[in-house]
Amino acid sequence: MTDRVAVITGGSRGIGRATALAAASRGFKIVVGYASNEAAAQSTVAAIEAKNGKAIAVKCDVGREHDILALFKAADKFGTLGALINNAGIVGPTSRVDEMSAERIERLMAVNVTGSILCAREAVKRMSTRHGGQGGVIINLSSVAAKLGSPNTYVDYAASKGAIDSFTIGLAHEVASEGIRVAAIRPGLIDTDIHASGGEPDRAHRLAPMVPMKRVGTAEEIANAIVWLLSDEASYVTSAILDVSGGR
Ligand code: NAP
Repeated sequence: MTDRVAVITGGSRGIGRATALAAASRGFKIVVGYASNEAAAQSTVAAIEAKNGKAIAVKCDVGREHDILALFKAADKFGTLGALINNAGIVGPTSRVDEMSAERIERLMAVNVTGSILCAREAVKRMSTRHGGQGGVIINLSSVAAKLGSPNTYVDYAASKGAIDSFTIGLAHEVASEGIRVAAIRPGLIDTDIHASGGEPDRAHRLAPMVPMKRVGTAEEIANAIVWLLSDEASYVTSAILDVSGGR
């Protein structure tokens, strides 16, 4: 798997950035996808290059199929695809379902669900032995929200992650005999910018006492689980959904 390319959507910040650094240190060449924060994406690339890794940044809003096709074209030029981390994900401002606009829900589903499925489609076309590929691994970012439902916060987001869980199981079974493993991580409360984008920067720390381990997790703790799933040590793991949540 070393020297193969790993595409990480939303690799510029948070869990995606930590995963980019961890996967690069294990020999992957990293394609850092980002939505708009080019400086953050270039900083991830620079951090990888500073440790003699290889990385490129590619602007890709996963809510746009055109961008996804361009992302994978750039990855093809960089090398042979070995991994996809479907990490890009968004939340809307905290609200009840009876306050949500159709536009908000459509955008959230386009990014979190359709974007992940379309990226997986492009990865399978390249990695499946059925298409002459050499196999690979696809990791989807779900959330413990898929089990909790996130009432009064973002039920639409929780539903999008429920869709990711079902997609993980179905795709895993579909391509299991074609050299591709598919798994998902369900992070709990992780200390990243995503909470600020929901309008509550302190959310993770406020809820920390409700976590059995009584603390928030770090992006690196999620990245560690992802790089294990990518590795040959997880060679018999597919269709698994792993909670990395301090017990939440
Ligand atoms: P984050 O800190 O908000 O970072 C989001 C990343 O996704 C950034 O790199 C951002 O790019 C990118 N992004 C945003 N919208 C995008 C779009 N439309 N297309 C492509 N990329 C886009 O998020 P995070 O907390 O690391 O979350 C990463 C994943 O873990 C998400 O799927 C999230 O749902 C999941 N998760 C997080 C938590 C948590 O507590 N943090 C818990 C459970 C699950 P720019 O830098 O260009 O904006």
